[in-house]
Amino acid sequence: MKIVRPDHPPFSSFARELRDMIRSGNVTNNGKYVQEFEKALEWHFDAPVAVFNNGQSALMAMLDAADVRGREVIVPSFTFCATPHAVMWAGGMPVFADIESETLCMNGVAIRSLFTKKTAAILAVDPYGIQCDVSALETNGVSVFIDSAPSFGSSPNKTRGDAQVFSFHATKPFSTMEGGVLVTKDLDLLERAKQIRNFGQDANGECNMAGFNGKMMEVSALIGLHQLRTWNDRVLHRKSHAADFAVMLMGIPGVTVVTAPSRQAPIWLYRPILIDEEEFGMSRDMVVEELAKRGIYARVYYRPCHMMPCYRNENIRLPVTERISSRVIALPVYNDFSQSEMKHIADTICMIQCETKK
Ligand SMILES: *Cc1c(COP(=O)(O)O)cnc(C)c1O
Repeated sequence: MKIVRPDHPPFSSFARELRDMIRSGNVTNNGKYVQEFEKALEWHFDAPVAVFNNGQSALMAMLDAADVRGREVIVPSFTFCATPHAVMWAGGMPVFADIESETLCMNGVAIRSLFTKKTAAILAVDPYGIQCDVSALETNGVSVFIDSAPSFGSSPNKTRGDAQVFSFHATKPFSTMEGGVLVTKDLDLLERAKQIRNFGQDANGECNMAGFNGKMMEVSALIGLHQLRTWNDRVLHRKSHAADFAVMLMGIPGVTVVTAPSRQAPIWLYRPILIDEEEFGMSRDMVVEELAKRGIYARVYYRPCHMMPCYRNENIRLPVTERISSRVIALPVYNDFSQSEMKHIADTICMIQCETKK
């Protein structure tokens, strides 16, 4: 069993539109499907949007549009490396904050000691689709942006913070193969981000900023439009199965299932569990290895960004991040997860645990 099972509309459902698109030659540059997809997403979010070729470029454009260059952006370390990388590429400096052990989201108290005169923004994250609590992060009028790459489909809130980015990468529950969207009610920020997405050119083709090519292809937008038609059903299936999966995983000695904060229904990009080495009788890494031997590919995710060679700094200590990331295993969740697949994974973990006692 793979860590992800990408979910796309059947080829026949968009073959004719794709053929006509290729014949017409209108395959990119704000074509009709990108415009339609943006309209559909604005309806979905009830907020203005701009689609991008991927989530990271949407993050970069958002941060560049917010002018973080030469300043600091507070980010969690417990995230995918794209979060701090986007800050770097926008010319800012990531400052790593610790997380809360309950929600795995950035800790609103911990960030307070990290504010300086150079703080430009906070870039929070929705780990695995768990929605971080923006009200706990709002301080001194500093903008709160959210890397919501994993949380398209999470409830209760469709939009939060000053601006948000969602990813439509093939590994995410809602895939356009590659893709992302910036959602914000700040129309100035959105306009600048759109300009950055198109090399920095304004309507007259003049550049007063150095942008890049962040445009979504027509084929991705076409797939996105088809995805939206069946999305609600797939969200329901995914969430109910992820909930059943959690119940199956509970009760295995040494395994803690991360659960959603109250009133939340995350889309669960993965279902994270924490391994207590002593109680389980085996190290986290060994559990991952044993699962792989039995054909189940789990992921060590997230890895702590502040301990990666490109960010490592001996002076940074993030105890909760370090503890959680040394114990966490991200288990697969699919849009079309079946009861037997979930049971197979839970039973296999149980079996591995039992065998440690022999
Ligand atoms: C997937 C992900 C990204 C990157 O999105 P892409 O569309 O792959 O560029 C960024 N941040 C987080 C937290 C993610 O999970």
